[in-house]
Amino acid sequence: MSKFKPFHEFQKPLVGISHEAYLDYIEEVIPSDHLCRLVKEVVFSLDTEAIEAKYSFNGQKTYHPKLMLSLLFYGYATGVRSGRKLEEKCISDQTYIYIMQCYSPDHRTISDFRKNNTKEIGEYFVDIIRIFNELGCSQVGKIHIDGTKLRSNASGKRSRDQKGYEKWLSEITEEIDKIIKEAEAIDKHEDESCETAGQHEELKQKLTDRNYLKSKIEEALKTMKEEDKKKMNLTDKDASHMKAGGSKDVRLSYNCQAAVTDEGLIVAAEAVTESNDRNQLKPMIEQTETNTKEPVEEVAADSGYGSYTSYEYLEEKGIDGYVPDNNYRQYIKGEYEKEENRYHYSNFNYDESTDSYICPEGKPVIYSKTRKNRTRKRQWNHKVYRGRECRECTKRSLCTKTKVRELLIDIREPLLQKMREKLSSEEGKKKYLKRQYTIEPIFGHLKFNLGYRNFLLRGINKVAAEFKLICIGWNIKKMLKLGIMPEMI
Ligand code: SF4
Repeated sequence: MSKFKPFHEFQKPLVGISHEAYLDYIEEVIPSDHLCRLVKEVVFSLDTEAIEAKYSFNGQKTYHPKLMLSLLFYGYATGVRSGRKLEEKCISDQTYIYIMQCYSPDHRTISDFRKNNTKEIGEYFVDIIRIFNELGCSQVGKIHIDGTKLRSNASGKRSRDQKGYEKWLSEITEEIDKIIKEAEAIDKHEDESCETAGQHEELKQKLTDRNYLKSKIEEALKTMKEEDKKKMNLTDKDASHMKAGGSKDVRLSYNCQAAVTDEGLIVAAEAVTESNDRNQLKPMIEQTETNTKEPVEEVAADSGYGSYTSYEYLEEKGIDGYVPDNNYRQYIKGEYEKEENRYHYSNFNYDESTDSYICPEGKPVIYSKTRKNRTRKRQWNHKVYRGRECRECTKRSLCTKTKVRELLIDIREPLLQKMREKLSSEEGKKKYLKRQYTIEPIFGHLKFNLGYRNFLLRGINKVAAEFKLICIGWNIKKMLKLGIMPEMI
């Protein structure tokens, strides 16, 4: 008796087998709950007319947008996204063959489709979220927001400030002059000697390259002046130098923001050029509400999002927020209660009846004026309190470097105190902690398991669309985990 399954002696080469027969075979082999089936059902439920309208009736027939979208969504869900790898998968992997119905587009077609339909990809991201809602699989009211840095598809060596670009431009102009002189000398030598030197093609190529580079530099200089930018990259003008969390490396990156529900569905996604998260809470909540058509009732985000402006916004909208400020950790650790921090402003006691503070030495610090200031990025609205008996105080050198101690208290300070109290409560701790187990593992999975540490596309609009493709991949996989079967779509 044999230990092994028998060889299939009847095996014949697959050459000549019809696509129908092969697809019938694959249809039998792929399990009914496989991700590729769900991707296909999701894509076929989307309205792709906007993309279809871009194609003309003239010329060769092309691949249907539904097939191309299925290919991209499935690829991004499984960590395959380069045009060449997707091209290869379309002939070697039966799940891809199933998705592409035996068609095998080349890598250029795949990457052009991705580049040319960025706007529509953003719309499909929203449509897929709505499928979730219609199936009743998500509690959209509660969200967790976080951001992560993904590297851009550009080298940091090509970033310059205005002076750097001007210097580069003069170097390139000199080089171009040199090439032209060299070509003229060769021409002269050929005329005199009646011999062909054979360097024309090489010089012509060199000149074309340098002229192209020169035009790019001139374009960059113009953009810098128009947009008042201090520094810019030549390859990807929107990418900025950013420090990734926990790392000392500063790299050209994009800050990718996501809002996630308790179930792990990404309901809002955006790539921004600002390196910190301070101004991203409001846009992410707004995008969530637009995408889901439901109000956000509760939000948790880390201290990067904590600011007076955020607290004010949450208060105005009546959203239950769990967002610590930058000093919250020191506050709960009791750092400000230590003797070396005796004169920290948090140790001044506020007296609401007189709108004044009592300093740690028991002296009054009273209201003087309200100072308002506003810049393009920030806004200050401070109440200024001044010590009354500081000149005679023996501890003055420990408390202030000036003659009189001044306290600058933001008029929104009570909102910060309220947030700290809420976060310190048992319920607040639980809700804030949940954020760590909800959104952070998603970024971990995307970056470390699927390898999405950088973008393939360039420019903020294309990068934002690529980030949404990554999120679409995650969301469709999430559907399967939540028990949504292809036949339910
Ligand atoms: S310097 Fe003024 S505010 Fe500071 S401890 Fe002395 S009296 Fe109080």
